[in-house]
Parts: sequence; structure tokens; C-alpha cells
Amino acid sequence: MAGGAPEGWRGAERPGAGGLALLGAAPGAPSCPHGPALLFAKSGRGKEEGRRFYACSACRDRKDCNFFQWEDEKVSTTRLAAREEYNRNHQPSFTHRQNVERYKNFILLPLSKRRFCQECQQLLLPDEWEEHSAHQFLCDISTAQLKSPSQLLYPLENKKTNAQYLFAERSCRFLLDLITDLGFRRVLSVGTPRLHEMIQSKASQEEDFRVRSLLLDIDFRYSQFYTEDEFCHYNMFNDYFFGGEAARETCRKFLCQDNGERVIMVTDPPFGGLVEALASSFKKLMAVWKKTEKEGHNNQEMPMFWIFPYFFESRILEFFPSFSMMDYQVDYDNHALYKHGKTGRRQSPVRIFTNLTPSKIVLPVEEGYRFCALCQRYVSSGNQHCEICNSCTSKDGRQWKHCVLCKKCVKPSWFHCNNCNCCALQNHTCEKTDAGCFICGKAGHKRSTCPSLPCTRTACQADKKQRQKTLKRIKLGICKRSAMKHAMFSRKKVKNKKKKT
Ligand code: SAH
Ligand code: ZN
Ligand code: ZN
Ligand code: ZN
Ligand code: ZN
Repeated sequence: MAGGAPEGWRGAERPGAGGLALLGAAPGAPSCPHGPALLFAKSGRGKEEGRRFYACSACRDRKDCNFFQWEDEKVSTTRLAAREEYNRNHQPSFTHRQNVERYKNFILLPLSKRRFCQECQQLLLPDEWEEHSAHQFLCDISTAQLKSPSQLLYPLENKKTNAQYLFAERSCRFLLDLITDLGFRRVLSVGTPRLHEMIQSKASQEEDFRVRSLLLDIDFRYSQFYTEDEFCHYNMFNDYFFGGEAARETCRKFLCQDNGERVIMVTDPPFGGLVEALASSFKKLMAVWKKTEKEGHNNQEMPMFWIFPYFFESRILEFFPSFSMMDYQVDYDNHALYKHGKTGRRQSPVRIFTNLTPSKIVLPVEEGYRFCALCQRYVSSGNQHCEICNSCTSKDGRQWKHCVLCKKCVKPSWFHCNNCNCCALQNHTCEKTDAGCFICGKAGHKRSTCPSLPCTRTACQADKKQRQKTLKRIKLGICKRSAMKHAMFSRKKVKNKKKKT
């Protein structure tokens, strides 16, 4: 392996931070077990500046997938063959179809014979007990448990690659009620297993509930509980269906029914995610929907809820200018910090971004949200309408204040600093004025906040520290079960682990 893949490529989101830039999906890209790799370039002033390489689209951590290849690297046929074999060997031990068969047999078993291996995260059939005898398992798996796989399975908490943050019941129910109130009949659930599960169980219990859901997720453990029409093993960073054309066709058909009317896509990607890669996949899914109708949906977009932290607003709007951010704070079960507490609550930074008309997104009044007639949208209780900005300006739920010098509203904890010529925390360190900016040469700012950079970057930069702190808190605030490293595929394949690809 020449050179070795630079660590932490998600730094690509912030130019300069990780020294890497994402160039995206490239035709003819080589594949790792997670589908086609993405193309990156090293940035910065090092010897290898601008050198391009492919790396795994799904795994931020090289421990999870160490795929790496320079773009201009010659790969021998022997190595190509070895790589193909490696990719084959790193697929799950059972196919989705086999898992569906296994499930059918499993539900025929009496309660006393229904076991779930916690170590392998797998439903066990009696003739497999022996094999798992040294493992911890759960007994008497009820039908109710089978209908709530997100409760049965451990949330993946491999922090870098696939941390799973499950919706709190309250937020999940809010989302589903909103979806049904808006008249949607089908939900493409991309990385939202708990929403999918809520829809599925409601549909099986209430006869007049006609909403259907298709789950697309990289967590293959879910294939044990859902048929091939209910779940597709999918990678949302490169729009890759592990089940090939048949699975892609399942998704296409799902989007097509009723001429694609009343379909909404809901997605809650990993927060560390590369917004650009996600946006590119989502645009492809939107394009599939658009093709479903002969009239081309009159230039409409497939309705979408993209659930993501508020500080990614400018990044998301860069790719989806038709989107707006709702004030609703999405809560999670396995976030120690962002749960709806008894006495007041910690504010969750996670929001809903949507291309639907904001005034139609009715937020719960009993939780303090109110309608702002001027903005024509629901806002959180602390979000005051600023006369000067002519908008409800708070992003984080607290009341923001207007700074006449900055000509905009800022966080309540900020003060205008004459040295920096902008608002900042009182105890901030003023940007050095003597050094001069690396990019434009002017004094008064560093290259990170250079006004000649595209505005999104500088805007992000101002909040960078706070944002990193918050992200860290989110990530540390999850439950304490031991990390499940290889759970993206249900079983460990230790044998080939060390082989180079
Ligand atoms: N709040 C959601 C879960 C969000 S956690 C709910 O409760 O339903 C992020 C989800 O995205 C997880 O289900 C995870 O398995 C999935 N995921 C992570 N990386 C992915 C990828 N590359 N492609 C598809 N899904 C992915
Ligand atoms: Zn990979
Ligand atoms: Zn307003
Ligand atoms: Zn203002
Ligand atoms: Zn100011």
C-alpha cells in the first residue's frame, strides 16, 4: 500500500482542517466491500498536495475499511483478483433471501425455542444453538420484539463510522403524524430504521392505516426482520445497492406506485457525514422519483425530510437551495444529552430540513412552538422575530440578539469585539492582526475566516469551535455498551482481515 490513506478524511468537510477535499464519485472507481470508493485529493502545502486517491465511502475509520488506492496507481491483475475475492468474503454470511427464509422458520418456533444471539446479533434456529453456546443470548423472543428490531439490536456505536442515534418515541411519533397529516402514503426511510419500524408495526395493527415504508440502510442486521420489499441494504454515501439491480428496482417500483404521488423520503444520516456525497446520492434518488411520472412532476422535487444538525444549514442549502430548516428539535433515545428531560430540556441541535412549504410543517404548540405570521412558519418559543432582519433568526432555540455593527442577529452569549470586527464569545482570543491573512495578505483575519473564501466556508468557520464542541458532546453522549465493530455486516470474518486489498 503506497503511502497509506490519510486519517480522518471527514475533515474534507472543512477545507484546511483535514487537509483533504472530496471530489466525489468517479466513473470507473475501484470498489471496496462497501461499493465504489470515492475520490479525494490531498490539499495543503505538503509534497503530495493535490494528489488524488480513492478511499472507502462509508467508513471514516481505516480500522473499519482500509481501502486505499492512488488515482494514478497501476493495480496488477493479481491484486485486482485478490481484491475481488476480499470484497466477496466481506459480504454478510447469509444473503437477504436466506435471512427471510430463516425468519419464516423462526416465527414457527414456540416461544421457548426462540433465541437471539447478542454477540452475533442474530436470530438463532435450534440447530445453531450449539455453535453459539459460548455466547450470550436472549430467550423467548416475542412477536412484539420481532416487530421492534431497533430495540432488540444494539445501536451501533462505532463512533467514526456508524453511530446509530435512535429517535426518541416522541420525536418518531411527531414525524409519523406529520407525514400522515401531510397526506403521504409512502415513506422512503433512508437510515431511519426506527421510523420504518413504527410505520410497519402500525400498518400491521391498524387496518385503516395505509402508510407503507421501504428502509434503505447499511446495517444489514435489519435484513433478518424485513422482506426484500421492505428493506434494501444500501450505502447512502455512494448510492450503492448491495443487492444489485433487483434491489435498485425494488426501490424504483416503490417510488413509482401511484405515479409517485404522495411519496416522501426521510433521512437521518450519520452527522459526521460528507454532505456533498449525501446530496449527490439523494439527488439520484430524487431523479428516480422524477422519472416515475410521464409529466415529470411539473418540475417538482420529491418531498424530503433531511434530519441533520442546524450548523450544517449552509452546507445543505448549497446543494438544495429549495430547502429550509425547521425549528423542531429532534430528540434521540441514546443521547444522554439530548433527551427531553423532566425539568426543562437540553436543546438538541438536530433539525428537519425540507423542500415542503414551511407553513405546512405544523410544530407542536404543547411543546412551545408557535406560528410566526411574518415568517410564515412555526418557530421555537425562544425564537423572537427580529424587526431589523425581518425574520425569526435563532438557530439553536435560544433568543438571539441583533448586533447593529454586524448587521445581523447573533447568539445571546456573543458580544461585539472591535478588535475582530465581529461578534464572538467574550473570552475569545482575538484573531492576530499583525500576521496578515495567508490567502489575501490583508491584516485583521486569518485564512480560515478570509472574506475572499466562498461565504459558506467563512460562515461555518465562525461557529466552528462551538460546532466541534457540540458534535463531540453528541458523540460522547451515547450509551455505554461495548462498541460493535463489524456490525455493518452481521458476522465477523476474521480470517481475511489482515489481507491487503
Ligand atoms: N434516528 C434514526 C437513526 C439514525 S442513525 C432512527 O431512529 O430511525 C443513522 C442511520 O444511518 C443508522 O441506521 C445507520 O445504520 C445508517 N447508516 C450509517 N451509515 C450509512 C450508510 N453509509 N449508508 C446507509 N445507511 C447508513
Ligand atoms: Zn469500504
Ligand atoms: Zn418570524
Ligand atoms: Zn436581527
Ligand atoms: Zn457584532
